[in-house]
Amino acid sequence: MRLAPDDDFTLELELDELVSADPSATLAGKLAAQLGATPAELPPLEIRKRSLDARHGRVRFHVVVGAAGRAPLGGEPVREGSGPPVVIVGGGPAGLFCAYELARAAIPAVIVDRGKPVQARRRDLKGLTQHGRVDPDSNYCYGEGGAGTYSDGKLYTRSHKRGDVRDVIEILAIHGAPDDILIDARPHIGSNKLPRVITALRQTLASVGSTIEFGARAVDLVIGGRDGRERRAIGVRLADGRELTGRAVVIATGHSARSTRSRSSTGSSTAAPPGTRSCRRPRTGSPTRPTAAASSPSACVRAAGWCRPRPSRAGWW
Ligand SMILES: Cc1cc2nc3c(=O)[nH]c(=O)nc-3n(C[C@H](O)[C@H](O)[C@H](O)COP(=O)(O)OP(=O)(O)OC[C@H]3O[C@@H](n4cnc5c(N)ncnc54)[C@H](O)[C@@H]3O)c2cc1C
Repeated sequence: MRLAPDDDFTLELELDELVSADPSATLAGKLAAQLGATPAELPPLEIRKRSLDARHGRVRFHVVVGAAGRAPLGGEPVREGSGPPVVIVGGGPAGLFCAYELARAAIPAVIVDRGKPVQARRRDLKGLTQHGRVDPDSNYCYGEGGAGTYSDGKLYTRSHKRGDVRDVIEILAIHGAPDDILIDARPHIGSNKLPRVITALRQTLASVGSTIEFGARAVDLVIGGRDGRERRAIGVRLADGRELTGRAVVIATGHSARSTRSRSSTGSSTAAPPGTRSCRRPRTGSPTRPTAAASSPSACVRAAGWCRPRPSRAGWW
């Protein structure tokens, strides 16, 4: 019996049926009964979704199954980039996934983050919780992986307008997150595993020429453009005085970066210059992917659905 690759079937299982020695036999038996076939007639099955239902004092699982063997995990692969990079400020989820999406379009990125690599952050958090020492650049909010990296790792959203959540989940899974996140209705990585996943994500980006600079706090935009006449963001100035330039700038500094955003009140730029994009946390995937034909990184990022210009009266820096 053939099942179409995208056909989903919902089954209800008691707890002991799901944790039995051979849950796939149980699934095949139940689905065969539902379809009026025998288990032997069915192709190999895979669980696509699993949710717990403990209402009315009875624990059972709702399981969605389908024919095994769908497309390999991870979606479109990243590719070696060339040409000037996109400068991304912030190595939280928004910045990292923006770089990943650009790498799928073979556009290199340089991420600058004021904090430290994800593993090194752990020491500073210990200093904070045990000795009350706050490192202004490396703490629960700042550093590789962004805010929340050392707090939890819940992956679900109640919003249905967040794009392709599955894409983000698959990228996390191929970078070492537990496979359970692919099927659980309430996926959760856990802060003990998340740092390893983020390190692996950084290594993937590095393998195609996208890099992360740590301890690199951006303090201003570099404005310029062709012929000296254009006025657009072409890079950032760092606290140590260096300037990093590229073909576009993405601001992905998250909610916690109030000091960054309130710089305008102390006399720097007062509005988002053309060419700057403010990036919120990844809207878990993209309805449309950037293609190699994307004419510019900003078009690519726009196509990816990650970033939306967000002019603010308060300015950017
Ligand atoms: C304690 C806590 C627990 C959370 N738990 C969860 C959860 O379980 N599940 C969930 O979905 N969400 C959770 N969140 C929310 C989630 O962490 C945020 O929504 C998400 O991190 C936002 O991503 P972002 O990339 O936009 O910004 P951020 O994660 O804030 O990343 C911004 C990055 O920019 C860097 N940065 C800031 N200013 C500068 C600068 N001037 N120069 C260079 N770098 C800069 C910072 O170091 C940081 O790495 C939690 C948040 C917190 C605080």
